[in-house]
Amino acid sequence: MVLSLDELDFGPPDYKEFLPPVSKKNYGKWKYHEHIKGGVIKHVAESGDEAYTVRAAIPKYVAAETVNKLCDIAEKYCEGYIKFTSRHNVSFIVPKAKDVDSVIKDVEAMGFPVGGTDHSLKAIIQCVGWTHCHTPATDSPSITKALYEEFYDEFKDNNAFPERIKMAVSGCINMCGATHASDIAIIGMHRKVPTVIDEIVEKFCSVPNLIKSCPKYAIKPKRGNLKTVVIDEEKCMYCGICYSLCEGMPIHNPEYDGVSIWVGGKVSNTRKGPLLARLIIPFMPNEPPHWENVVKVVRKIVDIYKANAEEDERVGEWIERIGWEKFFQITDIPFSDKSIDDWIFSVETYRKGTNFKMV
Ligand code: SF4
Ligand code: SF4
Repeated sequence: MVLSLDELDFGPPDYKEFLPPVSKKNYGKWKYHEHIKGGVIKHVAESGDEAYTVRAAIPKYVAAETVNKLCDIAEKYCEGYIKFTSRHNVSFIVPKAKDVDSVIKDVEAMGFPVGGTDHSLKAIIQCVGWTHCHTPATDSPSITKALYEEFYDEFKDNNAFPERIKMAVSGCINMCGATHASDIAIIGMHRKVPTVIDEIVEKFCSVPNLIKSCPKYAIKPKRGNLKTVVIDEEKCMYCGICYSLCEGMPIHNPEYDGVSIWVGGKVSNTRKGPLLARLIIPFMPNEPPHWENVVKVVRKIVDIYKANAEEDERVGEWIERIGWEKFFQITDIPFSDKSIDDWIFSVETYRKGTNFKMV
């Protein structure tokens, strides 16, 4: 049997097949929405139909049994439709206003807070960290939990901040946790080059692949033994990609690994357009399980932002308005040369004038 091209290359299914009936019926014809309480958005269509989004934060990993229980709620109140978002939320599109409180009650009974809408803390994104990846320099799941515990009330409050705050945590600079595009980001940092264990590289690793894997061209064949490699320490940026390919290049170092803090990123196109987060604290030691000092710094930045930003101003927009010098000054964070962007193509982003905003 010969299969046609369509049958061979079918790609992802059409997303419209998965829309709840009320969304499908009113597709492209929604009139307005309003945030009626923490975690609940009311949508009104031109036809007069209404639907209510109930949003709750869930962990990055959930057991199949938990998914089944969430699906039971969707079956009961949402015509069998449920949505898991890329920000680790579960969203229920509830067609009847009378069912909204029941959905909230059932989801919260499972231990998942309903919130993350309007000007609140959005669900915190984290990378899988050590649970499924071997390059982390820190424990992204436990940092995320510590931040949630600190900002629990702000997650549920639609008026917690002048604008939404998005936080994200990545275990290393590969940033699988969307950290560069978040208002406040915690990123794990390795600070030592991988250790090359010749015996393992020789036996189990492909040297050409290893050389090709390095984004900084820092890996070379070893002179006198082409079955293994050496690393140019000046070029290495401690990303750990080579370790993903080869067990013989471990990068972990409990004494030197830790976290950095970045602020001011956003994806949305509103007002100033998308912004990349910038490094403000290059290194803090790992302090599991409660991460007191990391949480303390984040709380301080959030409180100062809250007290000083204008309505509808995201963290990055607020900092750009007052100036980075002023930001470092009022948050009392020491400025270091590590915060200066020295990436070869970053010249475009430099402020080239001579005006400094120190007051
Ligand atoms: S950010 Fe780093 S530690 Fe986290 S999943 Fe990605 S590669 Fe692994
Ligand atoms: S850690 Fe990254 S930059 Fe350093 S040698 Fe390995 S792949 Fe290259």
